[in-house]
Amino acid sequence: AEDPKRRVLKDVFGFDDFRPGQADVMDALLAGRHVLAVMPTGAGKSLCYQVPALVLGGLTIVVSPLVALMQDQVAALRLAGVAADTINSSIDREANVAAWRRVAAGQTRLLYLAPERLMTERMLDALARLDVSLIAVDEAHCISQWGPAFRREYEDLSRLRGIFPNVPIIALTATADESTRTDIEARLFAERVETLVLGFDRPNIKLGIEAKQDSKRQLLRFVERHPGRSGIVYCLSRKKTEEMAAFLEKNGVTALAYHAGMSKDARDANQNAFMTLSGVVMVATIAFGMGIDKPDVAYVFHTDMPGSLEAYYQEIGRAGRDGREAEAHMLFGLGDIRMRRLFIDDEDAPPEHKRRSHGRLDTLIGYCETAQCRRQVLLGYFGEEASPCGNCDTCLDQAPRADGGMEARIILAA
Ligand code: ADP
Ligand code: MG
Ligand code: ZN
Repeated sequence: AEDPKRRVLKDVFGFDDFRPGQADVMDALLAGRHVLAVMPTGAGKSLCYQVPALVLGGLTIVVSPLVALMQDQVAALRLAGVAADTINSSIDREANVAAWRRVAAGQTRLLYLAPERLMTERMLDALARLDVSLIAVDEAHCISQWGPAFRREYEDLSRLRGIFPNVPIIALTATADESTRTDIEARLFAERVETLVLGFDRPNIKLGIEAKQDSKRQLLRFVERHPGRSGIVYCLSRKKTEEMAAFLEKNGVTALAYHAGMSKDARDANQNAFMTLSGVVMVATIAFGMGIDKPDVAYVFHTDMPGSLEAYYQEIGRAGRDGREAEAHMLFGLGDIRMRRLFIDDEDAPPEHKRRSHGRLDTLIGYCETAQCRRQVLLGYFGEEASPCGNCDTCLDQAPRADGGMEARIILAA
């Protein structure tokens, strides 16, 4: 069965992939946990509660500090066909009354309110009688006196957990410093809160791309540089996972295959072996990975190019969760581009969708072909600025050169 949050992402918002961290945040909320999500600006924090709001049904209350921001969000949601409302001082009484009628009738999925509007006894009484599924506190750093934008009205929000004891609360902010975070947790959440700090950078993962020549030999050479370590190898086709695994085995590497064409028992057995033993190389299609949280994966090796930079980021993110040195290595050739283009063209999808898919593919190709620091390109795509990282192939390859490429790049980037 299709993941309901993914269906909403696609059908309502028109996106094919989650941005880094979004799926984790949503899963925690959908499991009924409180969440503090710290994600950079532009990361897509809004979707982290908008999608669960639609999956859960009922009413989601969104607290947002700025009226203009609320109006924008409500307008955007309505364009996407979502029943969103706001009650605020900038719209006339009649419109506010009409909005409240929709809320009270259970027609509204997301209701945007400023904190001072929400925290009146009348509003709270009325809301407590409705089917509230989720409460989202956007720009949650405003609750903290340590934060850069303290707002007195936000302080009162600490009463929410008592008034809606069974409703999961998500607090969202881009302000990541420790004291602000601790302060938000203490004020907004009574019991355990799951704090997810999701900067996009994973500096311990070395990024590399290699021209594809003889995939098998290239893979073997790479794997042999990490003896005894666990790794994930992604292949485009089921057949290839089996061939590659067999080839590694023949060369003395413990390798297992994983793809959706295998029986459930076989898949489970291989997954178990990978999770519990160390030094197993899992050669898999993208069917493998969802919810895999093995801390000591030393590398993710792509024998073929994925379909988007989002997918690539998600896949390489399975390496180095223990914070130790890890590697993301991809083989890349013209054949990959051709294959991916064909995939998109052959898809039974509207032209607009195909156009978007080609655009996302182009972004990934740009990443593969860049002469710039790869991490800069990757993070830049997710809206994060970075200096040359010194831990990707383009940074490292150019370091010793006499033309001063690296130095020039640092100077130019400064
Ligand atoms: P934040 O609040 O974290 O700064 P927003 O929620 O305003 O970020 O989202 C920033 C932009 O990213 C929006 O234009 C949004 O539509 C877009 N976005 C969010 N999630 C995705 C996604 N999964 N795929 C593509 N674009 C996304
Ligand atoms: Mg935001
Ligand atoms: Zn770099």
